[in-house]
Amino acid sequence: MALSDRINTFGQDLLRRYGERVHKLAINAGFSCPNRDGSKGRGGCTFCNNASFNPSARETPPVAAQIEAGRRVIRRRTGARRYLAYFQAYTNTYADVARLADLYGQALAEPDVLGLSVGTRPDCVPEEVLDLLGGYRAQGHEVWLELGLQSAFDHTLRRVNRGHGFAEYAAAVKAAHRRGLPVCTHLIAGLPGEGGEEALESLRRVLELGVEGLKLHPLHVVKGTQLANQWRQGEFMPLSMQEYIALAADLVEWTPPEVVFHRATGTASLDILLAPAWCAKKWAVLNGIESELARRDSRQGARLERGLAPPSRCLAAAG
Ligand code: SF4
Repeated sequence: MALSDRINTFGQDLLRRYGERVHKLAINAGFSCPNRDGSKGRGGCTFCNNASFNPSARETPPVAAQIEAGRRVIRRRTGARRYLAYFQAYTNTYADVARLADLYGQALAEPDVLGLSVGTRPDCVPEEVLDLLGGYRAQGHEVWLELGLQSAFDHTLRRVNRGHGFAEYAAAVKAAHRRGLPVCTHLIAGLPGEGGEEALESLRRVLELGVEGLKLHPLHVVKGTQLANQWRQGEFMPLSMQEYIALAADLVEWTPPEVVFHRATGTASLDILLAPAWCAKKWAVLNGIESELARRDSRQGARLERGLAPPSRCLAAAG
């Protein structure tokens, strides 16, 4: 069995709905982040790579050129002929709405780009930006708002210097849903001070609010971060691969089958990854999650179908 037989993956979801493979093309439009320049916070999240914020990293090729480079690679590798422009790097709503409309519009002008996926922070989605994205959706484009939440616990968010709390996330989700925009929420397993119970409780709170997509990542340490210092000083221990696989399988089992997993693990390039080394092996981790679900004779939503109590009730006062 493949992973997509046990998990409702985004790739399969797109294939079902469009009748052909649709692939994401990652765009770096040169945005920065309000959690670094003082408008929302300073210093950035403790796990975020500082080096990526030097000015030269923001001198990016035009959107159309990035799409052309990406489509050449993806077409050769996967055969996909239709794409989603994935505004991925940093905070992709952090500009005035005219600039955003220009950048998103450049992507949508490409005839084989059927929509957008826009990654951002929950405290950086003003009404006019949501109106812009909602407008694209009303025109028939596939549009996803990807919100980095990471944890539903405010004390954890403070500890990793996110610069926002769960309340901002809840408000952003409600505002997106009022415009019919589907939300994909990013969660991190293994954050400092958190174990499996907290990850399950974060999932429970996200599902309770309503979400259409999820991205799961194990917390990994990359060069040039505050987390790297904490890891070197022994203040932070990453999850083992087996711990992450077991926890990811738990999270999948507690997620309703209709929620789409855009990602079930995360990776970093070897030149910046410090720990854990297994994070570089994306396919080994994904195969491990599939094997773990097979061992349990299980799949997405299985625990809900068995009528079990929701996870972590004892932590319901989180935040
Ligand atoms: S992880 Fe995202 S929100 Fe945090 S500092 Fe980096 S770009 Fe900003």
